Amino acid sequence: LDEQEAFDIEYWLLEEAKLQRMPKPKSLAGKVAFITGGAGGIGKATARRLLGEGACVMLADIDAESLGGASEELSTAFGKDAVRTVMCDVTDEQSVMDSMSASAVAFGGIDIVVSNAGIASSAPLDETSLELWNKNMSILSTGYFLVSREAFKVLKAQNTGGSLVFIASKNGLVASPNASAYCTAKAAEIQLARAVALEGAPLGIRCNVVNPDAVLRGSKIWSGKWREERAAAYNMDQQELEEHYRNRSMLKRNVFPEDIAEGVYFFASEETSAKSTGNILNVDAGHAPSFTR
Ligand code: NAD
Repeated sequence: LDEQEAFDIEYWLLEEAKLQRMPKPKSLAGKVAFITGGAGGIGKATARRLLGEGACVMLADIDAESLGGASEELSTAFGKDAVRTVMCDVTDEQSVMDSMSASAVAFGGIDIVVSNAGIASSAPLDETSLELWNKNMSILSTGYFLVSREAFKVLKAQNTGGSLVFIASKNGLVASPNASAYCTAKAAEIQLARAVALEGAPLGIRCNVVNPDAVLRGSKIWSGKWREERAAAYNMDQQELEEHYRNRSMLKRNVFPEDIAEGVYFFASEETSAKSTGNILNVDAGHAPSFTR
């Protein structure tokens, strides 16, 4: 090497080192995420994950008190301008339309829609009333349909593409004891996601599914009747149930809201999603691919 060539190499090595020390731009900076059930365990963890990547979030939920708490917690961590809330009942067509357009107006658009609002309520088949069946269908399957349809309208009008992520459940793929209504409603969400993905593809709108295994900590669902119903269905007490879920997974660990949020981020971001659409990610510490019950 002559003196000039050596100088050039040293110069570029120093420039490269400088670039590597510079903070990486956040991958969702400038993006807006609309999250149903945003005041609940998985919804709030998802909001936190997306906010951490620079997105703004609209938390849409039916529970005003939990919305207030979630908003305060997240605004303190990420700033008031990044977090907003809107009352939304996903079973009510007008409510979904109003909350979605309020979000688009408040933030000047929507890029990511996380359909997550849900309940869990079940019974043995011969004790499943039509009311219980309809409740599961209306909040889960129909709620996900209404949110997707309104999101689709907004994203289509923007002509910006976008990402829809459904929080379904492993129970949409495999049956769980005494939960026929819930399992059926979750299966419908998964098939809806595939149909949305097919129609959205020409418009650059992607739609994917994250299937959580049981998330026992930090979920309102699991602090209520569902926990008792599951324990009864498996004939176990609460601690045995938690151990059961842990032990049947390949990784021998329980699943937490933050794990689900990581799955949502994977599909939401153009950088990480590998341009997936119509796909399912089971976040279950490796239970689905094994034969363990
Ligand atoms: P969560 O109860 O903590 O949160 C659910 C949120 O949805 C609540 O804030 C609730 O107020 C809201 N909600 C309920 N009905 C609504 C409606 N009609 N309109 C708008 N919001 C409504 O429960 P979570 O564990 O965070 O569950 C989130 C999603 O994950 C649900 O769809 C659930 O079925 C799914 N899931 C949960 C588990 C689990 O073990 N926790 C497992 C698999 C799938």
